[in-house]
Formats: sequence, C-alpha cells, structure tokens
Amino acid sequence: MAPRRRGKPPRHFADLTAAERVASVVEAGEKPFRAKQLATHYFTHFTSDPAEMTDLPAASRTALAETMFPQLIRPTKVMEADGGTTVKTLWHLFDDAKVESVLMRYPQRTTLCVSSQAGCGMACPFCATGQLGLTRNLSTAEILEQVRAAFRALDRGEIPGGPARLNNLVFMGMGEPLANYKAIIETVRTLVAPQPDGLGMSARNITVSTVGLVPAMRKLADEGIPVTLALSLHAPDDDLRSELVPINTRWSVDEAIDAARHYYDVTGRRVSIEYALIKDMNDHGWRADLLGKKLNARGRGWVHVNPIPLNPTPGSIWTASDREVEDEFVARLRGHGIPTTIRDTRGSDIDGACGQLAAEEDDE
Ligand code: SAH
Repeated sequence: MAPRRRGKPPRHFADLTAAERVASVVEAGEKPFRAKQLATHYFTHFTSDPAEMTDLPAASRTALAETMFPQLIRPTKVMEADGGTTVKTLWHLFDDAKVESVLMRYPQRTTLCVSSQAGCGMACPFCATGQLGLTRNLSTAEILEQVRAAFRALDRGEIPGGPARLNNLVFMGMGEPLANYKAIIETVRTLVAPQPDGLGMSARNITVSTVGLVPAMRKLADEGIPVTLALSLHAPDDDLRSELVPINTRWSVDEAIDAARHYYDVTGRRVSIEYALIKDMNDHGWRADLLGKKLNARGRGWVHVNPIPLNPTPGSIWTASDREVEDEFVARLRGHGIPTTIRDTRGSDIDGACGQLAAEEDDE
C-alpha cells in the first residue's frame, strides 16, 4: 500500500473500507477474493501472521501480509492486576509515540479501554494524560490494533476465566476521541460491521467519552450509529468547570448538557455524565443539587450519572472525596430522581484506572 506522508503511520488493512480492501489487494497483484480471506484472518481469527494464513498461496502470502498488515503497535510492557483479569498494555507506535490500553474481565462481561490519541490536548489538571499534552492523533488501524489484540488474548484463553469475546469497548483511554473524529468514527464503523468485514460488536456496547466538544457531539448524533455517549462534566457550574475542564471556556456547561440531551433525542441512547469526585473541589451537596436541577430541566429518563472517586495522579494536589461526602453526593442526585451509580474503576494499583494513563515506563 502507498506509504503515507512522513509523520503518519503506514496505511494498514484495518484503515480501509471493504471496497478499498479489494482494490488494495488487486493493486498488490492478487485476486479480489483474497480481500475476504484476509479480512477473515484479521477480523474473525484476529491474526495478521502469514504463517497462520494457510489458505493463501505460500509463494505470495508473506509479501501480501507484510504489505497489508505493517506492524503498527508493539507491546513493550504489560501489567496485571485483579489476578490477571485486568491487563494494562503499553504500546509503542511506529514513530515511538506511546499509548496504553486496559482490558478488564468481569464475571459476565469483558471491557477494553482504548486510546484514541497519544497524549491529550485537553489539559484537564486532574488527569495524568492531560498533563502530557498532545503528541498526535492515532490512525484508525492503530486504534483497531489495540482492539484486535484484546479479542485475540481473550479468544486464545490468555485471560483467566477461559476463552471469551470482547463485549464492551470504551474510548476512555488516552486522548479526546472527538478531537480525532474521523479516525474514531471509522473505527466504530469497523467495530460494528459484521464479521468478517469487521468485529461484529454491538454499537450500544461502545462508549465514546468526551470533554464536551459540542459540534462533534452533535455530528456524532447524526451518524446513525447508536453508540453510548459519555460526557465528562465534573462540575455543574461554569466557574469551576472552566478550571477542571479548560475547554469549558469554549463550550459551557449548559451547551454541553444541551448537546448531550440532543444526543439522546436523536439516538434514544441514555447518556452518561462522568463526574470525578474531588475532595472539597466539586463534591459539595449544593453542586449535586445544581447538577440534578440542570439535568431534570431537560427532561427525565435521558441521563444517568457516574461519579468516579478521583484516582491519584503524579503531581496533583487533589484527592478523592471522603466516603460520607461521596454517599451524600449520590443520595442527593438520586433524591432528584437521577439514576446514579459510582463508577467501578479498576487498575489503580497499576496506574491503569481512569485518568491515570501516562504511558510511563521509567519504573522498570
Ligand atoms: N477525553 C475523554 C476520554 C477520556 S475518558 C474524556 O475526558 O471524557 C477518561 C475519564 O476519566 C474521563 O471521564 C475523565 O474525566 C476521567 N478522569 C480523568 N482523570 C481522572 C482521575 N484522576 N480520577 C478519576 N477519573 C478521572
């Protein structure tokens, strides 16, 4: 496949639509039906290894696989917690940019948290990724390779609990997914495409989380793919939110909540509001009441709130709210009739929990 201009990752089979895959295989001098065979290997058997592609002619399969599946991401460090059912992987990209993904296996489901950018440009002061600044956007295939690796590990029985499929995918790793819109929407299209054209996931089990890039939220609503939308709100008032989520100076609390409600109107999908509870910062009873009021002002039954006890990050002066304060915050929201569940965040012992992904490897 044609090399991309400098700074861009090599083009990969997973960057292409089904029609483009056929064209690309033909360009490489092969019969069109080889595209389906390659797709089956990649999306159904989760392999890009020519040695495993025994239905392809031996003479050409290595060259073909190398052209179609250039190595985009390389695992350089794997950390485990929860008896091996939480796995954080550090990936090196072709240009040595680094990202992380976290696979979490629960009794009834499996969830992968993927990165959509190396670093992040949103600069939220309580988030480790926000402190890094943005290195670059990931390509569609760089995101899908994280997903394929998870499917593969589960399929091969590498995660305790026996072979399984990946059920849930959350764009809650490094980066702001809606700031890399084209790549993430192409990723989503391939995630939901039936095998072997894609991974056959259900759109409702895919969550796109955003700091509140309002025009992109509205655009996402119109895509006709009912993914779950999560809005990282963290404060119901502009004064505080502008400090915690700097993009709030561009799109306010009310504009972000309106866009979330619009998402529900168009897709019928209940929206999640993420709210990291930070001691003496945003955890006041009156803020819970104000949040409840603002959400109810836009109707009932369209939203639920996920408070997340703040995870520690290097250099941050902030800590999680006390337990009683957290309980009171939840009780107040529920008192307003807002379904509220504390987010179970895993992996804090391996710096793999919400807001802790910084792609560090200096502790070796
Ligand atoms: N940029 C997107 C995607 C990242 S998702 C977004 O912000 O929504 C990561 C989630 O973890 C976000 O809800 C984020 O606000 C939250 N988070 C960030 N730092 C955190 C921390 N230190 N403790 C708990 N949650 C945190």
